[in-house]
Amino acid sequence: MKKTTRQIQIGNVKIGGGAPCSVQSMCSTDTRDEIATLAQVRALADAGCELVRCAVLDMDAAVALGRIKAQSPLPVIADIHFDYKLALKVLEGGIDGLRLNPGNIGERWKVAEVVKAAKERLVPIRIGVNAGSLEKELLAAYGHPTAEAMVASALGHVRILEELGYDQIKISLKASDVVKTVEAYRLLSQKVDYPLHIGITEAGTIFSGTIKSAVGLGILLADGIGDTMRVSLTGDPVDEIRVGFEILKALGLRQRGINFVSCPTCGRCQIDLIGVANEVEARLKSVDAPLTVAVMGCVVNGPGEAREADVGIAGGRGEGLLFRHGEVVRKVKEVEMADALVALVEEMAKDRGPG
Ligand code: SF4
Repeated sequence: MKKTTRQIQIGNVKIGGGAPCSVQSMCSTDTRDEIATLAQVRALADAGCELVRCAVLDMDAAVALGRIKAQSPLPVIADIHFDYKLALKVLEGGIDGLRLNPGNIGERWKVAEVVKAAKERLVPIRIGVNAGSLEKELLAAYGHPTAEAMVASALGHVRILEELGYDQIKISLKASDVVKTVEAYRLLSQKVDYPLHIGITEAGTIFSGTIKSAVGLGILLADGIGDTMRVSLTGDPVDEIRVGFEILKALGLRQRGINFVSCPTCGRCQIDLIGVANEVEARLKSVDAPLTVAVMGCVVNGPGEAREADVGIAGGRGEGLLFRHGEVVRKVKEVEMADALVALVEEMAKDRGPG
């Protein structure tokens, strides 16, 4: 069961308090390059991204982010370390969320100024603890960046904000180690009811990062932990969104785009099923409608799965049966399979609309 957390709002996106887990990403562009950053924000929005974060390294980036925010189709979160002036500038520029650890900002009066400006604009702050950059004192006390040390770090930052009377907070505790990350979030979720941003940081390339994220975030989400998520991949951030939704879809927590079912093939298969499946999946990548599409190799399990799906194909010898909601539409030749399936899905997606 989903753990109850308080609700905050970033732009028009509700986080926590029973809202569906939102999927976010971070631009890999130089924020000072407004054109490139906006292009990436739009590509992310097209892929279904709901919140976008941009790194703010200097004052030029802080000023640019205000202009980016003005044209962004998504709520924008500024990622800031150490410099309170950058935080004040992006808040003035109208950004929707801040990622900032108050303990890294220095003197208390500087944090107080940031909190005052955030409070005036109701801009939530994410405390983002990373196992790789824990405070020296905590490393000395715990010996290593353990789950307990990460939680202690997060609670220290939370205390600063609470002492300043601010509770529009969400928290993340990221490590590249899946088991440690899960342990840390489980521990933290017993101690606070602030919404949690979940992720496995520095998870790796698309292949390894997808697996680590699916395992780690899958465990947490199945435990009811996680109000917003970012999948971190060494690659195009658009892939992070696809992977994020696949994880949520696999757990039945969100519906978006194609739920793709295909068999692993075996000696019974008499068509190039791998080719057809890959082609169909790639061609349907941008479909938003929540439809189940099955590409099956033979008549053993094929018709069953294809019938259960919204649209499906079950292969035979050099041909296959095309199904729609369990009814056979027609027989198609192998060479026409991908086209026929894609055309039918696109037609149904038009009727259904986005999920
Ligand atoms: Fe083999 Fe048919 Fe199952 Fe595919 S659906 S794995 S071809 S038995």
